[in-house]
Amino acid sequence: MCTVLRCQQAAVTNYPLTTKGPLLSAPVCKEHKDAMDAGEPWRARAEDQAILMGKDIKLAGSQLAVSWDGFSRDLETSTSGGPHMLRARFTGDDGEPITVMMNLDTLRALVESAEVQLEFPFSPS
Ligand SMILES: [Zn+2]
Repeated sequence: MCTVLRCQQAAVTNYPLTTKGPLLSAPVCKEHKDAMDAGEPWRARAEDQAILMGKDIKLAGSQLAVSWDGFSRDLETSTSGGPHMLRARFTGDDGEPITVMMNLDTLRALVESAEVQLEFPFSPS
């Protein structure tokens, strides 16, 4: 059976969910495999081992970051003596901006991850 939420179609293949680390894949039907191959946003939900697509992604309170916009230093935290935070900016799958605060190591790990395809013009200072 297809892993996409509420889909009742028979699975035709195991779709790879990650490209790095332990190989995780889930059975999907031909229709959903074709949609995922075509670049339609999807998200694996661990709790019930379901794949969310379409409006189910939003209903779950999740939004996919589909493109990397850039980063900026957060002056407020940078001058407070705390860890230097960066404000990473993405565009969501609905075109709305997504801003995430993270420290340099986290941002570096994100960018080096095979799951994030980013042009990253940042050299650590
Ligand atoms: Zn399906």
